[in-house]
Amino acid sequence: MNVYDSDRIFDALNETEPLEKTTDPGKADVIIFNTCSVREKAQEKVFSDLGRVRHLKSSKPSLIIGVGGCVASQEGKEIIRRAPYVDVVFGPQTLHRLPSLIRKKQVIGKPQIDISFPEIEKFDKLPMPKPEKCTAFVSIMEGCSKYCSFCVVPYTRGEEISRPFEEILIELAGLSRQGVREVTFLGQNVNAYRSQTENHEQVDLASLLEFSAEIPGIERLRFTTSHPKEFDSRLIKTFDKTKKLVDHVHLPVQSGSDKILRLMKRGYTREQYELIIKQLRKARPNISIGSDFIVGFPGETDTDFQDTLKLIRNIKFDTSFSFMYSPRPGTPASDLPDQVPLATKKSRLQELQLLLNEIRDDTSVSMLNTVQEVLVEGYSSKGNLEISGRTSNNRVVNFIGPKNLIGTIEKVKITEIMTNSLRANRLIQNAA
Ligand code: SAM
Repeated sequence: MNVYDSDRIFDALNETEPLEKTTDPGKADVIIFNTCSVREKAQEKVFSDLGRVRHLKSSKPSLIIGVGGCVASQEGKEIIRRAPYVDVVFGPQTLHRLPSLIRKKQVIGKPQIDISFPEIEKFDKLPMPKPEKCTAFVSIMEGCSKYCSFCVVPYTRGEEISRPFEEILIELAGLSRQGVREVTFLGQNVNAYRSQTENHEQVDLASLLEFSAEIPGIERLRFTTSHPKEFDSRLIKTFDKTKKLVDHVHLPVQSGSDKILRLMKRGYTREQYELIIKQLRKARPNISIGSDFIVGFPGETDTDFQDTLKLIRNIKFDTSFSFMYSPRPGTPASDLPDQVPLATKKSRLQELQLLLNEIRDDTSVSMLNTVQEVLVEGYSSKGNLEISGRTSNNRVVNFIGPKNLIGTIEKVKITEIMTNSLRANRLIQNAA
């Protein structure tokens, strides 16, 4: 989500005045920090990052320093109080206003703050994205109305709001014309997507996926992140009906203990979650399941933690993000008694990640010698002139092949398993 927002910030700025990206802050005319406040570390990092660019303003007083994203949304004026050299503060819903905020700052000379939540206005104002690769993110809904007791997102990004159906399809057709072959629908709870067609028919994520699959040139569809509470049978059936939907779903479970799920206000039990996975595997036997986990939520006993490990062994999650619980100001969980000591959180996280890595490695090993379809995205990051892409179940695969394969789906045979990627041979080469 933040990568997507950063690209939109660049698009918005670039439209008013052509810009060039630089990795050297000393050369920059504009420095924007796009921030995250989901966990405390990310929040504190912003202030230390700001401290590191502060000196650049004395040699270049015209330098614009901006802070966007969820820390900006949560801290607002406090950012200017702690770092008075910051020129603009804007939230995730006002990033399209950044050029006018900068202009105002230059004219009036006073720092500008706009962290309001104008309803979906952003998408009308932002220029059409110019993709650099054959894969693209498309935001279809924003915000969150779930109010999980640990999470700051509803307060920083606002309530759930969906983009108009036809507008998304038009964006997809435009991306396809520019060579995009794989689209990832983005949203805090992407399966909470609800809209209407121009003929006033109700549509949801399942409808959007079905219609998107009909757009010529779009070969693969992904979505992230979904919420178990709204993972209904229509969406599950889409995995059976819509072949362009990949063999991968990211469905955050957070914990395997019903007591902790209740305290987190997740709105489902472990059994309900397991049932969704069972139905998904029936619809798509090869599906790889990704998830998010929080360890050390207030009141989590060793038995609760063991329940999470049991769930991981049962489901055999493939990809995962796991975190130590981090109390966020203003969220109900931060006031709960029985906060878990840091040392316990650390050792639980380590144990959980070891198990998850073991399962991920087993899945990779099971892919050895299988034939996989890879959407070739570019050169391998290893710099060895190999080309690189992703399988339907989201594994990075590197292999030798000509550059004109970039943007196409190639059949390869997996030959080697590495920790974070796989190596393969092109199938036609084997046949030759
Ligand atoms: N909307 C998705 C859901 O809740 O199902 C996830 C979105 S959230 C921005 C991404 C992940 O950050 C969550 O799934 C959770 O694992 C983690 N997270 C959120 N708040 C957290 C907190 N206070 N402490 C630790 N991890 C947190």
